[in-house]
Amino acid sequence: MEEKVSIVIPVYNEEESIPHLYKAINDVMVDTGRDYEIIFVDDGSRDGTSSILADLQRKDNKIVIIEFRRNFGQTAAIAAGFDYAEGDVIITMDADLQNDPCDIPRLLEAIKEHDVVSGWRKNRKDKFFSRRFPSVIANWLISKVTGVYLHDYGCTLKAYRKEVVKNIRLYGEMHRFIPAIADWVGASITEVETTHHPRRFGKSKYGISRIVRVLLDLITVKFLQSFSTRPIQAFGPAGLVLGVIGFLIAIYLSYEKIALGLSIGGRPLLLLAVLLIILGVQLVVMGLLGEMLARIYHESQGKTIYIVKRVLGR
Ligand code: UDP
Ligand code: MG
Repeated sequence: MEEKVSIVIPVYNEEESIPHLYKAINDVMVDTGRDYEIIFVDDGSRDGTSSILADLQRKDNKIVIIEFRRNFGQTAAIAAGFDYAEGDVIITMDADLQNDPCDIPRLLEAIKEHDVVSGWRKNRKDKFFSRRFPSVIANWLISKVTGVYLHDYGCTLKAYRKEVVKNIRLYGEMHRFIPAIADWVGASITEVETTHHPRRFGKSKYGISRIVRVLLDLITVKFLQSFSTRPIQAFGPAGLVLGVIGFLIAIYLSYEKIALGLSIGGRPLLLLAVLLIILGVQLVVMGLLGEMLARIYHESQGKTIYIVKRVLGR
């Protein structure tokens, strides 16, 4: 039998879109003949979304609704969808009809060969200055920093093999970085062009402030990728270099004071030496604290620093 498909949809105040979305998904999925479920994660909606969803659920037992107590954000909604999904393939999409369910069969085709399929809104229907332009820069930056080159990290329409998402914990705004995180655990990733529509109902839940949050999360992701199992390697080198420079300056000043009898009390260089030594010691100590945290985290969670694909002969 073919693998089951879970469609995960974060929903926050999208009452007008839901009925259209449900119908469109239903039409497409019935056509594919696949076993599927639609998981709506109601992220604390305050309009009629909850009751509309409940009505749909009564009529169609392929629908699962996870209702949050308050608004926890799109990343949390997607994480909940992953936790409850029973499918072997999990598809995420927006609730506002900007993603098109007609693309689902193409994603399902591509996921046969890959672990992650990322949608690419090549012809994106959003405002240029507040959306598309920042997004071009963001995608370039995220690709550079993570080393996983995608045209459109921000597209929610993506497909994942179950094994990939079941092992990823999401925080902050991190749902957009899943392909990068998946790449580090050895998943294969591909892109598929998808259709994009302008928002028909309601309004966008994000403003320009998202840029800052995404940037901070990018730093977090990069840090975790490079150094979470060896923090002393992240802080140590800078600490050593600064500390040694400070120490050398201090020796030089001591020489002036002791051998040449010069006064060093009012020298800016003295301040620099002290600053560098303190910074150096702090960075090294920070790295050591990080090492302890990393050990506590990994050992208490039963985490390893490697991922095994398979073992033969055992
Ligand atoms: N969303 C959510 N919780 C939030 C914000 C957004 O579940 O706190 C959902 C929203 O209902 C939509 C999707 O996330 O289905 C994307 O949001 P939106 O369309 O506002 O983002 P944009 O397309 O403008 O980037
Ligand atoms: Mg949208």
